[in-house]
Amino acid sequence: MRTSDIRRYHANEIFHRIRIEPQISQKEIIRRTGFDKSTVSSIVTRFDELGLVVRTPTAAGNRPGRPAEGLSISPDSGLLVGVQVESEELGFVAAGLDGRPLAHHRQSFNRKVKTLDRAVADGIAAVTAASGRTSPLLGVGISLPGLVSTEGMLVHAPILGWRDVPVLDLLSRIVSAPLYIGNDVKAAAMAEHMFGNCIDLDDFIYLFSGSGVGGALFLDGEIYLGAHGLAGELGHMKVVPQGRLCSCGAAGCLSAYLSEPALAAEVEARGGKTVRSFDTLLDRAEAGDPAVVSVFEQAGEILGAAVSNLVNIFNPPVVALGGDMARASRYLGQSLERSLGRLAHPNMAAQTRVIFSEIATDRPYLGGVALALDGVTGLDASSVIP
Ligand SMILES: [Zn+2]
Repeated sequence: MRTSDIRRYHANEIFHRIRIEPQISQKEIIRRTGFDKSTVSSIVTRFDELGLVVRTPTAAGNRPGRPAEGLSISPDSGLLVGVQVESEELGFVAAGLDGRPLAHHRQSFNRKVKTLDRAVADGIAAVTAASGRTSPLLGVGISLPGLVSTEGMLVHAPILGWRDVPVLDLLSRIVSAPLYIGNDVKAAAMAEHMFGNCIDLDDFIYLFSGSGVGGALFLDGEIYLGAHGLAGELGHMKVVPQGRLCSCGAAGCLSAYLSEPALAAEVEARGGKTVRSFDTLLDRAEAGDPAVVSVFEQAGEILGAAVSNLVNIFNPPVVALGGDMARASRYLGQSLERSLGRLAHPNMAAQTRVIFSEIATDRPYLGGVALALDGVTGLDASSVIP
């Protein structure tokens, strides 16, 4: 790791500890993180100068002499905005430094590159106003549906039909707050670790479904990047030999069974009416449409095969399922469990909890907030979160 990356890592870890354990002492942070005293002290001092944390006396260390001091974050001292770019809409959330959502906003999007900057700026203004806060906007996280380069370029986003769009450049011209951009699936995994069911877990595997299927391998407290930052393409695990053709060009990938277009195509192939969106699928499942229910059931079975591979390879304490599949947990859960029971190594299956993400359904767009919080508390972090 470069020196700046190490400092960012230390700063993020320390802020994380303070955020999830209010009133923690500096000594306890040193013990829990294993970082040395001078590192912790200099970073806490910097957080203090920036107004991100407050120091309060605690009752615990009631010894004569110096009173013990607890550290807590000051959630009201600044605002974060998360932005989610999707194929037909832009989603915005304003949150405090504790990650608690204060306001949401959605607006339709025409997928034209040249309208992106204005649309994002308008949305940020709208959600900031709706938050009712006057504290400064400390950072904006932009979560993008595609491959993001270290220079802040959206290299390829099939669902938008975009290639090589310099998103960071375009938006820096119009948004004055610090910008942090990243891939949406990795951002959602970060949100899971910061605010969701995987809070404080050093190891978990995250799977996400939407217009495609992606994932992240969260190992030893970090997202595993692989040789060139592309590791974790879990949607292209091969789960059905000689199976359906996938958008990546191969056959039998998980994405070809679980992505929204794949589910929609299968429902239509079974004689169902045209499916316009994932909401349509959920509504029809809710109404008991047998074609939709059986397509979900089959998808759950195949998802179970994919999860069993992850269980057998990584022996993770948790596999978290986010995005659309979390919204459809009622229809996927039973067949998923059945196939998992059949395919995962029995000893290992008992050691892994497979959960549907709650933040995916309760608190949308938190991926962008995770990017922003990671950037702001990373102290001088670069604008692209790999
Ligand atoms: Zn594929």
